[in-house]
Amino acid sequence: MLRIIIAALVGAGVAAAAIFLVLQEKPVMEEAAPVAQNAPAATSGPSAFGSGTTTSLTQEEWDSNPATQKWQAAAYEIAGDDPDLVFDAGIFCKPSRGVSNEDRATIGVPDSEPRLEPFGAPEDRPVIGLQRLFDNFYWIGNSNIGVWVVTSDDGYIVYDAMNSAADARDIIVPGMEEAGLDPTQIRYLVFGHYHGDHTGGGHYLQELSGARAIMHWADWELYLRAFEDENPSGSFRRMDDMTPMTRDIDAEDGMEITVGDVTATLYQMTGHTPGSIAMIVPVKYAGTEHPILLVTAGNHFRNINAFIGGYEHIWDIAIRRGVESVMQSHPNTNMNLLARTRYVHDNYPPEINPLLYGPERTAKYLNIVRACSRAYIAAVDML
Ligand SMILES: [Zn+2]
Ligand SMILES: [Zn+2]
Repeated sequence: MLRIIIAALVGAGVAAAAIFLVLQEKPVMEEAAPVAQNAPAATSGPSAFGSGTTTSLTQEEWDSNPATQKWQAAAYEIAGDDPDLVFDAGIFCKPSRGVSNEDRATIGVPDSEPRLEPFGAPEDRPVIGLQRLFDNFYWIGNSNIGVWVVTSDDGYIVYDAMNSAADARDIIVPGMEEAGLDPTQIRYLVFGHYHGDHTGGGHYLQELSGARAIMHWADWELYLRAFEDENPSGSFRRMDDMTPMTRDIDAEDGMEITVGDVTATLYQMTGHTPGSIAMIVPVKYAGTEHPILLVTAGNHFRNINAFIGGYEHIWDIAIRRGVESVMQSHPNTNMNLLARTRYVHDNYPPEINPLLYGPERTAKYLNIVRACSRAYIAAVDML
């Protein structure tokens, strides 16, 4: 049923560009490993977990596993007849777990109101620029990766920094200026994890703004180590600025950061990297505050420990805190489909903001992701 390939972590340079296209979200070691070529034909693209270990799970294997089917049925039962939640179950309840580029490119839209125009995630990664999603909250990026800007009455929090200094200079800074936001007023730079597609513009923004930079200590170590590598692998191949950020604040589980009238909370979500972190931030919309969860990875966990200690940890906290939306810096995987963000920006402020599920539906959403993850765990016998 289960085919596991132990991919030797040698030959990291083999067809690196091709692998990069399919595994942008994966940790550096996985991006560098020749997993995609060696994997048996999978029906839904590669889904890697664990350093050097990858599983190619076919739809047939998924469909014929009774435990997987039980969990998938549980996910659809939670979704009920809510078209958005049915759509979400369709993303996560499949062998790829919805994280492959193919998934992002062909994601479609929910069969719900407001009616949305599909917006895929094409390989050429068109720049989208700035999108206003809430009164004090913007997204800036391309179709593959972006950053969030939380505004306050006294400066900003920016989460992530895209791939490179060029991205920071040519996409993030002009995006902020377009909204009348002065990039020198960034007070905190928060990094969900250390990979180059999230930290590449960090040094540029740190120099520009003098902002405090926050990352988990384990990811600071891995980040700085990546700069010592003469042959950078994975996401660090896109780096155009070989000066790392100055190491600053270590993120801790439950750490609060306040800028002006906004207080955000950081939480550990080990899994995609050892020091991955999430952030819950109150956004303002239609005269009300709504807590939302920003995650650094959707449901890509390497092993059962990371699933329970990292992902279930943050999902449980999010449900307890009544978050009303879940977003990821790689769009088109969680709720923040590019189709939705475009609609909200183009119609700001829309009467119905499809980015806000409300607390009850978001709890259902997170439990759907949980059930689909259990379906995957059963299918690959991860226990
Ligand atoms: Zn990553
Ligand atoms: Zn990434």
